[in-house]
Amino acid sequence: MSKTLSGPKAAFLCDQNLGRLARWLRMLGFDAAFMRKWDRAVIEKATSEGRIFLTRKRSMAREKGCTVVESDHLQEQLSFLNRAFSLHEKIQPFSRCSICNLPLKCVKADDVKNQVPEYVYATHREFARCPGCLRIYWKGTHPDRSLDLFNSSVNASEEK
Ligand SMILES: [Zn+2]
Repeated sequence: MSKTLSGPKAAFLCDQNLGRLARWLRMLGFDAAFMRKWDRAVIEKATSEGRIFLTRKRSMAREKGCTVVESDHLQEQLSFLNRAFSLHEKIQPFSRCSICNLPLKCVKADDVKNQVPEYVYATHREFARCPGCLRIYWKGTHPDRSLDLFNSSVNASEEK
């Protein structure tokens, strides 16, 4: 009966150099698979399924479904992806596990009462659990750190 939180539609595969970016994309709600080591078959399968392959390898620039991420800095990477894919229209924080890339399941506050710090239970109403690692997430009253960083990335790109 637990409902799965549905994230935005854009889906990515990140190469082995973009693990940090993959985690941040997940925090923003995007399906971001991660490739630990270079594997042509994995890339082809992902792009054939409609995933966008994000890579630091410039030689991939002309390949179908591939996007070369030039910057090595997270904020610039997010800013670049935002311009390329209009991420800001699709972000949905609190919908995906940043570690497993699995969609989170809503859970009742009562069910997590003994699994989260008391102050968190007292100040939050919405909780969700990752079906993979069982980590519990909660929706804060303040904007998420991921949102702050994302917004500052967007603003930085607009000022240029
Ligand atoms: Zn997880």
